[in-house]
Amino acid sequence: MRWAGQRIEAEVPGTLPGLGSIAGLVRSVTTPEFRGVTFHEVLARSALNKVPGAGLPFNWTINPYRGCTHACRYCFARPTHRYLELDTGLDFDQQIVVKTNVADVLRRELARPSWAGEQVALGTNTDPYQRAEGRYRLMPDIIETLAASGTPLSILTKGTLLRRDLGVLAAAAEEVSVGLGVSLALVDDDLRRLVEPGVPSVRGRLDLIRAIREAGLPCGVMVAPVLPWLTDSAEQLDHLFGELAEAGATGVTPLVLHLRPGMKDWFMTWLAQERPELVSRYDQLYSHGANALPSFRNAFGEKVRPLLDKHGFGRVPQFSTRRPPTPVITPPPDQQTLF
Ligand code: SF4
Repeated sequence: MRWAGQRIEAEVPGTLPGLGSIAGLVRSVTTPEFRGVTFHEVLARSALNKVPGAGLPFNWTINPYRGCTHACRYCFARPTHRYLELDTGLDFDQQIVVKTNVADVLRRELARPSWAGEQVALGTNTDPYQRAEGRYRLMPDIIETLAASGTPLSILTKGTLLRRDLGVLAAAAEEVSVGLGVSLALVDDDLRRLVEPGVPSVRGRLDLIRAIREAGLPCGVMVAPVLPWLTDSAEQLDHLFGELAEAGATGVTPLVLHLRPGMKDWFMTWLAQERPELVSRYDQLYSHGANALPSFRNAFGEKVRPLLDKHGFGRVPQFSTRRPPTPVITPPPDQQTLF
């Protein structure tokens, strides 16, 4: 594997309070290419995760990484870092657990007679094409392993690194259903640098959508999260949907921001620094829980529907290459409420 041959700049044994909670830890690594980031390389015991609960078009996920260098301030996955005794703020962005043996474990799991070949989703928790994937290159093996076993798959990402694997994905789509989704919810790169500091640019993600389509694959877009009073104006959404249509997106799913416990404080701290005038409005909007108030979501739905129709996204989105009748790019379990 490519990562195995790279020069290790520093190995950091046992320097974090949470390291004892990272099962299977082999070593912790820093490199100059990832300033401020520590990779905790682990030997995972399992690759497939059964999704608790119902209501999703998939029952299984794979998360090659825990934590995400994309560092979105609104990231719903932040609370998962608590299980590692790491914090849900900077640690989530900078302490990245890497399951270096994930494809080997996956091969064993898929070979079990009990494996029924159900759809597997990637990108439902942390981003499989975050920058770390450039170093560890875990995804091609995962995709090929799933396809070889006849297992349909879906991937949701903000990472333009997926372009590297378009050949692998196109080959996989010859064998199984492949669903691809890109997450893009804003058109303002200045705001993107503030709220998604580690994520590729707007233009980069539009070019990714275009490249996916040119590779003959469908590409749905999660317009999520839409940030109230920051990215939700009719003008902004009209502009974004127009760009998505022009790039060839095969479907669009807009979702208003959810503010769950465990990430709300991190987001609200950012909001107080960057847009203090909005803090009291957000406090009121999310005063009843993780969802924005129904009146706001209803008004958003009224605003967004004609814009979706205008740009040809008012129909049922088609995100996958074959087989499943249901769309395979789906909001994370806690973000199922459209609008
Ligand atoms: S890309 Fe996704 S997983 Fe990564 S920080 Fe952003 S929202 Fe979280």
